[in-house]
Amino acid sequence: MIYIGIGANLGDREKTLQKATGILNAKPEIAVVAASAVYETAPIGVTDQPYFLNAVLQVHTSLSARSLLNCLLAIESKFGRIRETRWGPRTLDLDILLYGDAIIDQPGLQVPHPHLHERAFVLAPLCDLKPDLKHPVLGQSIQFLTESLGMDLSVRKIEGLNLIIEK
Ligand code: AMP
Repeated sequence: MIYIGIGANLGDREKTLQKATGILNAKPEIAVVAASAVYETAPIGVTDQPYFLNAVLQVHTSLSARSLLNCLLAIESKFGRIRETRWGPRTLDLDILLYGDAIIDQPGLQVPHPHLHERAFVLAPLCDLKPDLKHPVLGQSIQFLTESLGMDLSVRKIEGLNLIIEK
């Protein structure tokens, strides 16, 4: 199973997440099968920027990890993502978190996502979807990794806000 992290911190963040989910699901090679709750999360790195909305999507796809990444990058640029500062504000950020059990370390593509295990804003929504999933490199469950971060006040589930999946 493949998991994609989705985040936005500029403009209408909720609309961006919903639209990007729809665009992904409209591709014939991609089916979004589940979406986590949406979380509001404090920015890391460059902290002087708006809070993010983050969620995780579970997808099926016939695309290779590389083709999927290219597809995600094309969607990001459709939303006019400005890539000026590393870890700076972005209209839309899409990351491949896990591609089944695949371990990929190529120029421009690392899977599992290299920061997956240390970021509450991806672990918390991923844990909603699949707490018993094992990290293919670390061998620990997503629940274990989430709990290892301790209580993280920088992520807050937004009750009642769910991404709609329509094919
Ligand atoms: P950022 O969106 O700032 O995390 O960085 C995007 C860049 O990270 C892209 O140009 C990708 O080539 C690279 N990258 C490496 N591994 C991944 C991954 N698993 N998912 C998304 N982007 C990745």
